[in-house]
Amino acid sequence: MHKVTLIQGDGIGPEIVAATLTVVEATGVKVAWEEASAGEEALEKYGTPLPEETLASLQKNKVGLKGPLTTPIGSGYRSINVALRKALDLYANLRPAKSYPGVNSPYREIDLVVVRENTEDLYAGVEHMVGLDAAESIKIITRRASERIVRYAFEYARQHNRRKVTAVHKANILKLSDGLFLETARSVAAQYPEIEFEERIVDNMAMQLVQKPHLYDVMVMPNLYGDILSDLCAGLVGGLGVAPSANVGDTVALFEPVHGSAPKYRGEDKVNPTAMILTAALMLRYLGEEEAASRIERAVAEVLREGKTVTYDLGGSAGTAAMGRAIADKVRSNR
Ligand code: NAD
Repeated sequence: MHKVTLIQGDGIGPEIVAATLTVVEATGVKVAWEEASAGEEALEKYGTPLPEETLASLQKNKVGLKGPLTTPIGSGYRSINVALRKALDLYANLRPAKSYPGVNSPYREIDLVVVRENTEDLYAGVEHMVGLDAAESIKIITRRASERIVRYAFEYARQHNRRKVTAVHKANILKLSDGLFLETARSVAAQYPEIEFEERIVDNMAMQLVQKPHLYDVMVMPNLYGDILSDLCAGLVGGLGVAPSANVGDTVALFEPVHGSAPKYRGEDKVNPTAMILTAALMLRYLGEEEAASRIERAVAEVLREGKTVTYDLGGSAGTAAMGRAIADKVRSNR
């Protein structure tokens, strides 16, 4: 029995989580879910968007599955997603982007993985006003964080039989901060001679990904570039509705879809649960349940290929729950 902390999330979170739990149950893997609160619901109930109990639950269980959380724009509390990553030192954000036949996209057979540094860069949240008419946000890059994220990317490549790691940077302009990231990446790469290593400047990388995505494999980069390019990669394979992610540290891992809480669709049984379901598959694989994880991925692929029970964003008219049930049925019949 695996014990996992479950955060339902804001907006569409509870609906996609419900569909996902049906699918996980269908695998037969026994999971004891420990519910914990965060975001808007926690603010209402406990007066804080990130209660101590939630962090304690994640620290104790070491694995969490999480729906998206709303972050107020401009003013209000800072992102709970960022706070969780920092508090639990979840330094690696893994964002695979894989093509599924049946999902509308100009590309086929894309299989990319973005490894995004998750704890520093402009996301360190160090910013202040300089007088009334200027603001300063500080970009922090350290050798330690660069070292471990690049090592994570190479270890991931090694374990998953990937052929190449590309480091993405803007060291031509940000000579000190991105320069340090790149220099560190080169020295880690030298320790993995069996895996090809290359470097790309981030703007060129964005263009190359659109023009020749098949040339790339695993890509590793500082936080902000990873945030932007992983959404670009999600776009290459059909959008946020099918993009899962994992936030991994040395002791704790927290799994969540790439997309946000899409508040305008809340409670409408409308959005696509696939990203959340594929996220659960990443979690099961992390827990050592390889067979169940692959079975979920095959079931998702079948439902997408058939195109009969899919949500609006994939050109269908099925609701969130119905698509979840269709995937769960395939999981059961593939047993
Ligand atoms: P969003 O991802 O919530 O939604 C953008 C658009 O993408 C939606 O309007 C919808 O058209 C589409 N979309 C998203 N998820 C979908 C799904 N499962 N199925 C079908 N279509 C889907 O991004 P946003 O509107 O920029 O952000 C809304 C809130 O989510 C903000 O408060 C933001 O801070 C938060 N957010 C949270 C996370 C997270 O929890 N990790 C990530 C991104 C954004």
